[in-house]
Amino acid sequence: MAELRLVGLTKRFGSFTAVDDLNLCVGDGELLALLGPSGCGKTTTLRCISGFELPDEGDVFFGDKQVTLLPPEQRNIGMVFQNYALFPHMTVYENIAFGLRLRRCTKAEIHRRVCEVLERVGLSGAGERYPRQLSGGQQQRVALARALVISPSLLLLDEPLANLDAKLREEMRFYIRSLQKNVGITAVYVTHDQAEAMVLADRVAVMFAGKLAQIGPPAEVYRHPATPEVAQFIGLANFLTGSVQEILESGCKVMTSVGLVECAESRGLGVGEKVLLTVRPEAISLHRHSARVALPGQNIIRGVIKESAFLGNTVDYWVEVGDGLLVRVQGSPIDILGLGTEVDLSFSPSSSWLIPAEH
Ligand code: ATP
Repeated sequence: MAELRLVGLTKRFGSFTAVDDLNLCVGDGELLALLGPSGCGKTTTLRCISGFELPDEGDVFFGDKQVTLLPPEQRNIGMVFQNYALFPHMTVYENIAFGLRLRRCTKAEIHRRVCEVLERVGLSGAGERYPRQLSGGQQQRVALARALVISPSLLLLDEPLANLDAKLREEMRFYIRSLQKNVGITAVYVTHDQAEAMVLADRVAVMFAGKLAQIGPPAEVYRHPATPEVAQFIGLANFLTGSVQEILESGCKVMTSVGLVECAESRGLGVGEKVLLTVRPEAISLHRHSARVALPGQNIIRGVIKESAFLGNTVDYWVEVGDGLLVRVQGSPIDILGLGTEVDLSFSPSSSWLIPAEH
């Protein structure tokens, strides 16, 4: 098994920089999700790792071995794509055996390894079937088996679930995660689906415009996004612009356009510094406005419901909190509040965080 390292990886197409000085390391047996919007350079990064694209600058290391200029077939990589890329005229068995034949394995060795991997992906009885006789999920499991049968040092997956329906996609997330952990293989998983990245990955690397914006475990990136772009891309976020008014023992007070708000962190910021106080919709509680409301220790902001959307398990509200500023909040579907209702929004200092405003 190998650790993967990208050092200053840069790839240009003409004057356009698709991957811009990317530095990251994927640990032995780790699954790293490369997450970002369409066109941010995820696939190009994967192609540089696999050798189908040569970087203009920087290096790719597998363990201590520099493989930057090595052709793909000498990198011992297993790859899985969105469109499965199975050979339609070959049986499942033959599809999986293909890579082993290229490696000139003996017939007995091929049989043993194909049977073993078919069992691993739960398709033991399907060897004689053709891809067209399988469901999308089964075809993707064949593609995984074909990638794994060669005992690769690294598994690269490029949006492997994008062609599946929502329910199957959810099932397959858990399936791929447990398969990757059981095999113990180092993996890079490209997706633009944040839920997929959160479920599957040990760590998530978020990319924008060819650059790495943040890398960390899913919960950390979700709870403490480094930039407004990351906060918006992974989940939903409300921003209140303001400046630090007072540093407390445990956090700070920020003067915003809707009043003084307390935050449980201060990130080494000083008084007067401009910040974006950030809070997720699900961290905010919504109550009908009452002059007698008592919520000690909570930030309270008054507002009026301007828009709502019933989503079944929750109701999304857009609440105007002053001067056209809308805050997004999630409320209970049991007691739905009408447009124009005056409300108090409350959230605890520990459920908000600060992003320096220059980002
Ligand atoms: P998606 O999620 O849509 O696949 P991505 O994040 O994987 O997007 P890439 O496919 O890596 O993005 O592409 C990054 C940028 O580089 C895009 O703007 C794309 O148009 C450009 N690009 C990719 N390959 C080439 C190429 N061979 N020639 C010119 N431009 C390219």
